[in-house]
Amino acid sequence: MKTRILALDIGGTKLAAAVFEKNEIVTRARKPTLAERGPDAVFERITSLLETLLAKTETRASDIACIGVGCGGPLDSETGVIYSPPNLPGWNAYPLKQKLEARFRVPAYVENDANAAALAEFHFGAGQGHRNIFYITASTGIGSGIILDGRLYRGTNFSAGEFGHIVLARNGPVCNCGGIGCLEALASGTAIARRAMKEAARLPRSLLAKAAAKNGRLSARDVAAAARAGDPAARRIFCDAATYLGLGITSVIHLLNPEIVIIGGGLSETGPLLFEPIREVVRKRAQRHLAEFVKIVPSELGKSVGLYGALAVTENRNGELR
Ligand SMILES: [Zn+2]
Repeated sequence: MKTRILALDIGGTKLAAAVFEKNEIVTRARKPTLAERGPDAVFERITSLLETLLAKTETRASDIACIGVGCGGPLDSETGVIYSPPNLPGWNAYPLKQKLEARFRVPAYVENDANAAALAEFHFGAGQGHRNIFYITASTGIGSGIILDGRLYRGTNFSAGEFGHIVLARNGPVCNCGGIGCLEALASGTAIARRAMKEAARLPRSLLAKAAAKNGRLSARDVAAAARAGDPAARRIFCDAATYLGLGITSVIHLLNPEIVIIGGGLSETGPLLFEPIREVVRKRAQRHLAEFVKIVPSELGKSVGLYGALAVTENRNGELR
């Protein structure tokens, strides 16, 4: 009986995989990606990770229905070809779907990881029961997935949902993408940490400066801790980032009129520090008939969103093919 699904989440630093049965994790495992070794070496690490899980769970080839994969884009989710994601060096037109299907002899479905996470929340998390969902992943970078009328919106060439690169400042900081004033350059974990390092240097007696001296560097998590402890510079930095996120979300609410905005990723773990300013900006800046109807909530799947995302990709594809 083909009752088991293999789920694979390919990140720039870690690979995570799970065997699912009836939407429950039977077992899961992870290991470093070692992306710098190139696609063929990473593919071997992926297959050995999956094979270890199959052996551990006594899953036979005949038990596997399919493989679902979430991976950083750009990628073509029809052909399952990956096109040089910034965090996977050397993956130039890498035929991931084809390679997985040849190795495991079952269908494989590949989706952009932010889209996969949006599908995960739609099928299994905070988005259940909703038809119009805007999912945001906010961590070192910022991405999103859009579900409209119960279907994933991928865009003309699978590139919709680049929420991190909507432009919010005419003369803002330069973004990783080369753009100026992108949301990601203003409000990502990386942007928060970068600004905090500057403030730490400017204010040597602040909590930020103490944390920077202790760790040698600052992460968004350090800035959140300093903000919670009452450090005024850290509070200002966090509030500014959340305000930019709120402005971006306000624009999306005006554009898409979603029922729910779900925020996942590492930054969402900071809780009220992030969500309170965002909700306040939306309340003040969005048109009332739109703002009244939209909920802004944290991800329900948290750290498991990648694996549930890979599972949700298979659910979604089976639905699309039916
Ligand atoms: Zn950008």
